[in-house]
Amino acid sequence: MKLEISVHEQACRGCQMCVDVCPTKVFEFDDEKRLCVVKHEDDCIACLSCAYICPSGAITHTGYHVVKNFYRDLAFCNKMEKFI
Ligand code: SF4
Ligand code: SF4
Repeated sequence: MKLEISVHEQACRGCQMCVDVCPTKVFEFDDEKRLCVVKHEDDCIACLSCAYICPSGAITHTGYHVVKNFYRDLAFCNKMEKFI
């Protein structure tokens, strides 16, 4: 199952907290729309920090699963290689 992120456009206040908190720079701020947009969905590591910090509860994720021993998970390690 593929991980997908959605931002509820009507709920987003454009505070950019998700942009700042995301460790892998998944979001970008759209100056025209005045809200954040998902730009690099494949880089998401499903830490859920953005969903936790969003004051509007505008961000939802589907298709993720919790990996307890992520350092043993090859797919996760391959994904993280570009960030460390
Ligand atoms: S944290 Fe929530 S309200 Fe703020 S820009 Fe991101 S999605 Fe919008
Ligand atoms: S779950 Fe974590 S990695 Fe994924 S978009 Fe949110 S803050 Fe970024």
